[in-house]
Amino acid sequence: MTVDTGLIDEVAIKFDTIDNKSNLGHEKILEEKNILKEKGQREVFCGLTGIVWLHRKIQDAFFLVVGSRTCAHLIQSAAGVMIFAEPRFATAIIDDKDLAGLADANEELDKVVSQLLSRRPDIKLLFLVGSCPSEVIKLDLSNAAARLCKKYLPDVKVLNYSGSGIETTFTQGEDACLRSLVPEMPKVDNQVNKKLLIVGTLADVIEDQFSRLFKKIGIEDFAFFPPRASSNLPEIGPNTVFLLAQPFLAETALELEKAGCKHVTAMFPFGVEGSYEWFLSAANEFGISESKVKAELQPYINRAKHAVDKSLELLNGKSVFFFPDSQLEIPLARFLQNELGMELLEVGTPYIHKKHVNKEISKISSDVQISEGQDVESQLDRCTNAKPDLIVCGLGLANPLEAKGFTTKWAIELVFSPIHGFDQAGDLAELFARPLNRRNKLEDLNHSGQFIEDLK
Ligand code: SF4
Repeated sequence: MTVDTGLIDEVAIKFDTIDNKSNLGHEKILEEKNILKEKGQREVFCGLTGIVWLHRKIQDAFFLVVGSRTCAHLIQSAAGVMIFAEPRFATAIIDDKDLAGLADANEELDKVVSQLLSRRPDIKLLFLVGSCPSEVIKLDLSNAAARLCKKYLPDVKVLNYSGSGIETTFTQGEDACLRSLVPEMPKVDNQVNKKLLIVGTLADVIEDQFSRLFKKIGIEDFAFFPPRASSNLPEIGPNTVFLLAQPFLAETALELEKAGCKHVTAMFPFGVEGSYEWFLSAANEFGISESKVKAELQPYINRAKHAVDKSLELLNGKSVFFFPDSQLEIPLARFLQNELGMELLEVGTPYIHKKHVNKEISKISSDVQISEGQDVESQLDRCTNAKPDLIVCGLGLANPLEAKGFTTKWAIELVFSPIHGFDQAGDLAELFARPLNRRNKLEDLNHSGQFIEDLK
């Protein structure tokens, strides 16, 4: 096993296509009205992608992927190479000796961890991140994490989770990571005052905005999870209620519920409608009146509406087709339909966690086709037949669709960009307007012949 800290100069692989051949049954079961369930070939990133935003958030954590060169290339090309800063992710590469059983993979892993921790005393939390190769050779990373904890605690806590692409989609990496952190959160049995936990990785600037708004509406006792430092894990107890900031945290939510916390059902804070309802749901839980919330948030609502309206002229009446990718599809589709007047042709999403997205689904027109799972070939047929003005999809589909003359938006960009809350609502609308703007400009240039001239 060798360690790859990322300073590689080979051509990086942009993404992996997961060909889930075992599921090529192409089943389509219309179980419920307007929810089409599909199983078949999928085109998504794997859960390692979450390291890109998680390593920026938890600043004393290190993510050691136990995987192959492909895994190393994936996180390098997605996260970029940290030349001037010490990287906070790396790949312990399972090589031929490990695969052939000539080396004890556990011993090799222990050596890599020892080298890493002696070089990097700033690491307080080490995640061993499983991958397809580590799962295929059945390397038990939970045992490895327990063994390494015995050796390195109290200086370094070692946890593990899976980022493998087998049967998962890329935002599940964050879900698995946060779930592994829940048992580490300090538990208090006699929690007197109600406490709000906001769950899901948010950019620091958004956390700061949300903190101001929670205080304005009268919620003082709140914390964000994950925190910016692993030593600051928020306390939880029987009086903790939690609000999801991301729709893809089903396992984390379950783990928090098992620990005695209560989930507050809400929409997600995307766009004006979602952001307002999100704050209002939290306020309801704390017995704060709607009139108070409205009065405090009205200036933010007005400003956000004004910003969103800047994209209205371009997007109103345009049609959009979502391929399943980030699990953000349903709330984003609701935003595009209700605040920008877009026509939803199909809203594909990898999984539907009904409990978490029911409020969102109820805000989408009942005749819109929602689909769960993927059979990429038949979905491509439906998409090209519907001729949408805009397609939201993964990188693997975007380029071929662009080549066919369609306008696309990369779904992953919506996960990497700060899009939550009132102050980002205008930017969120702009993210969808930009590809249509670009297409219009290219067409104008083409018509004037200037583009061809420019290329000469
Ligand atoms: Fe590819 Fe699996 Fe590694 Fe992800 S975890 S990069 S899908 S081999």
